[in-house]
Amino acid sequence: MIKIYNSLTSQIEEFVPLKPGEVTMYVCGPTVYNHSHIGNSRPVVFFDVVSRFFNYLGYKVKYVSNFTDIDDKIIARAKEENISEEEVSEKYIEAFLQLRKQLNCLPHYKNPRVTENINQIIDFIDVLIKKDGAYISDGDVYFKVDKINEYGVLSGQSLDNLIHNLETNTHIDKKQNPLDFVLWKKTTEGRRWQSPWSEGRPGWHTECVVMINEIFGGKIDIHGGGVDLKFPHHDNEIAQSICAHNHKIANYWMHNGRMDYSGEKMSKSLGNVVWTKDILKDYPYQAFRLLILNTPYRQPLNFTFDLLKQSTAEYEKISRAYIGLFRKLELTYGIRDFETDITFPDLQMLKDEFIKEMSNDFNTPNALTVIQKIVKLANTLTRNNDNVSYMLETLKLFKELLGVLGIEVEVDFLTLEERTIVERWQNLRKNKQFEEADRLRKEIIKRGIII
Ligand SMILES: [Zn+2]
Repeated sequence: MIKIYNSLTSQIEEFVPLKPGEVTMYVCGPTVYNHSHIGNSRPVVFFDVVSRFFNYLGYKVKYVSNFTDIDDKIIARAKEENISEEEVSEKYIEAFLQLRKQLNCLPHYKNPRVTENINQIIDFIDVLIKKDGAYISDGDVYFKVDKINEYGVLSGQSLDNLIHNLETNTHIDKKQNPLDFVLWKKTTEGRRWQSPWSEGRPGWHTECVVMINEIFGGKIDIHGGGVDLKFPHHDNEIAQSICAHNHKIANYWMHNGRMDYSGEKMSKSLGNVVWTKDILKDYPYQAFRLLILNTPYRQPLNFTFDLLKQSTAEYEKISRAYIGLFRKLELTYGIRDFETDITFPDLQMLKDEFIKEMSNDFNTPNALTVIQKIVKLANTLTRNNDNVSYMLETLKLFKELLGVLGIEVEVDFLTLEERTIVERWQNLRKNKQFEEADRLRKEIIKRGIII
């Protein structure tokens, strides 16, 4: 049984999929006007692990994430770089997909874009107007939050509080209620489309509701995103969906905590933004994933380079243990096929423990302690064991569980020539010809062979 903390009810709940054996999930994607910083990458890594875990348990996962390719920030960036808005979004979509690959994330089921869904968005806004959930005001269309009794159900705040906390209260003169949000804005700037109300473009909060409905044709299992999206974005998604479809989009709403840098919120004005692409130039992606997964996903995570160095050391330990066992099986026993079932009871227990931790609202820090146990076991086996099938199954389990976390240890079989050198080195050591062995050891290291 998988338990999930549902932000909608603020409770841990048993996960029951809408359709047995299948998981439908949607996570709000980036507005494509810039590269991703490390905070943006936290949900990318975490929800990839969520989808991998469901996969591992045998579910068929349909995981969708969108690209917001219309936005004031894209218009501004286009002006700045003196290129078109399309070129800006194309460039950063490409960069985002590339980064996901570098982070070893599985491809999404679909990546819908706003610009490909304009007609559907217009039709949807029309439905909201007809249901008296939206009104036209000087060419703009606004959602009427008073229409929904449960408005603000996710953030769990009173309307008075929400009004008080509104950061920007734009176009207040055009609205019936300050909390009403824009569905369609009349504009003369940037890319715009013809609608029954004006030439303009959609507001941000409508696209996800429309795309989810287009792709899945109704309610989905999981809707996710960063905690900063709870209000207003996700509350506004829910309000529109209640009005148009009479449901709250997803049965389970999941939010990851934010990531700060050295105790401060990252922002361009503070000049303390750390880009994920820069991190990955100097550190292995596996270390960055470990850094994220070592903190429970709902808690805030304070990124520091010390922490990243620690996770790099942690990854090196993992990879050394893995490669050690791999090479022993390869060199001592000539094994080149590591496929096997897990049959030894103590290995089965480790596997069960990992699954139990992950099933408890994706407790990745505890799942990683199971990985540490396997590291120890692998090291012991490499040093002192002759039970080939036990070693084989340990390596298989090691690979399998790391795979759920999206971590792959990169290791290839040695070529015949490399194997000969390693065997010569082993023989020299056996014969206590240490000087000659050391010389060969240097050669081995120079060639990048890890043993
Ligand atoms: Zn969204």
